[in-house]
Amino acid sequence: HFGFEDGLSEAEKTERVAGVFHSVAESYDRMNDLMSFGWHRIWKDHFVSSLNPGLSSHNPPTPQNILDVAGGTGDIAFRMLHHAHQLNRNPDVRVTISDINTSMLAVGKQRSLKLPASQQTALSFLPADATVLPAALAPNSFDLYTVAFGIRNFSNIPQALREAYRVLKPGGVFACLEFSKVGNPLLNAVYKRWSFSGIPMIGQLVAGDRDSYQYLVESIERFPSQDEFRDMIVDAGFVVGGEGYENLTGGVAAIHKGMKP
Ligand code: SAM
Repeated sequence: HFGFEDGLSEAEKTERVAGVFHSVAESYDRMNDLMSFGWHRIWKDHFVSSLNPGLSSHNPPTPQNILDVAGGTGDIAFRMLHHAHQLNRNPDVRVTISDINTSMLAVGKQRSLKLPASQQTALSFLPADATVLPAALAPNSFDLYTVAFGIRNFSNIPQALREAYRVLKPGGVFACLEFSKVGNPLLNAVYKRWSFSGIPMIGQLVAGDRDSYQYLVESIERFPSQDEFRDMIVDAGFVVGGEGYENLTGGVAAIHKGMKP
């Protein structure tokens, strides 16, 4: 084990994570495809359609305010805008991409220039730490809070959940897509083998950075199980339906949702 986290304070941990993402920002999108065999795209598409942003039975359609936390290079935010504006024909959906890392946001900003102008105007970028969202994000101001492949890196997850609760409107939804625990022992063995040797190796070969990718793999290992994480969401005050989560690809990833009552 790399032992990246051992004995680190929260501030040191935050700084370490910042370092990792500064070094991977440029190669991040290509690496995602290689590491997950393109599967992350399917998970992200499913995550966004399951949230169905922009859906409204009113005319004109009800505006929606979405906060994509740890939004990185924009994968979730861009899908949200496409789904809301294009598929649900609701132009009054705005998305704020926030991330602690300005290198990731810079790549996202660059990528967003390819979006239709109406989507570009509906998008804003905000450097912010998810565990202490800026006071400018008022309480009860968002309809939807999304976080994809970000929360496991936060130095204090319960605090980030409390912040999500604070900025969401009553009736607003917290939605998280994250790597999780694989139930099937055989699939788990194959998956562990791939993540602990394959991913750091690709990190070395493609991005010239074995340590950052080793860290990312270890952070998946440390992240709580589906049930434990659901309980943390409930502890933060959210209401969950059914089990509170949906497994993707046998639990390689999972979607958790909670509503602020
Ligand atoms: N959501 C994007 C996606 O699915 O492609 C990006 C995911 S990327 C694996 C994780 C992101 O979390 C990075 O951009 C990193 O900078 C961000 N991050 C890590 N710690 C954070 C924190 N405390 N607050 C906000 N963002 C954070």
